[in-house]
Amino acid sequence: MEFEIQKSRLIEELRQHGISERVLNAMKSIPRHLFVPEKEKKNAYADYPLPIGWGQTISAPHMVAIMCDILDIQDGMKILEIGAGSGYHAAVMAVLAGSGHVYAVERIEGLAQFARDNLKKAGITNVTVIVEDGSLGLAGYAPYDCISVACASPEILETLTDQLKKGGKLVIPVGKYFQELYLVTKTDGLKKEAKGGVVFVPLVGKKGFSDF
Ligand code: SAH
Repeated sequence: MEFEIQKSRLIEELRQHGISERVLNAMKSIPRHLFVPEKEKKNAYADYPLPIGWGQTISAPHMVAIMCDILDIQDGMKILEIGAGSGYHAAVMAVLAGSGHVYAVERIEGLAQFARDNLKKAGITNVTVIVEDGSLGLAGYAPYDCISVACASPEILETLTDQLKKGGKLVIPVGKYFQELYLVTKTDGLKKEAKGGVVFVPLVGKKGFSDF
């Protein structure tokens, strides 16, 4: 009950920030407290990142909301997430994708299992969590309608834009310690729009950073 009240307050705060009703409804349907470690549950509905182990964090709710709104996820879409972490962001995208599917790639085996367990507890069935180096995308299920990158990349990765459908969208934080969030739309070329400053944990991998 207490969680429900805290969740309603968070949704109201996000509404004040101009998040769409579609994304707010998706977030309302996901119990975020099921996606954080036991000792962080009391903070599950606070609007800031929380530690999830292995030196990683679950993004702040407003960041998940903004990234979902930017991608304009529609029913039936096939989505790739790089950096599954707790599985929360994937869960919100899975609700928005409805009859579609989310492939969530995570490099840390323990976190991939954490995400799978959390998604199961939340009753989300249209997410597949895969242990891979997401800096290379996930060629096996490409092309995607949307790709959402939840870690900081050195650049807009061609490995990812190559795996987008025509008309598809990529959202990606670019930079080392501080990043600019980019929306990249694949038309005949690539349309790149800067969406503001953000801070994410690094993308570690072949096309990511190697020195963290
Ligand atoms: N979306 C997550 C938060 C992700 S934090 C959530 O909702 O909880 C970023 C995640 O990206 C971390 O779990 C980190 O391990 C992962 N990551 C970093 N580099 C990666 C790579 N090359 N491939 C896949 N995952 C990566």
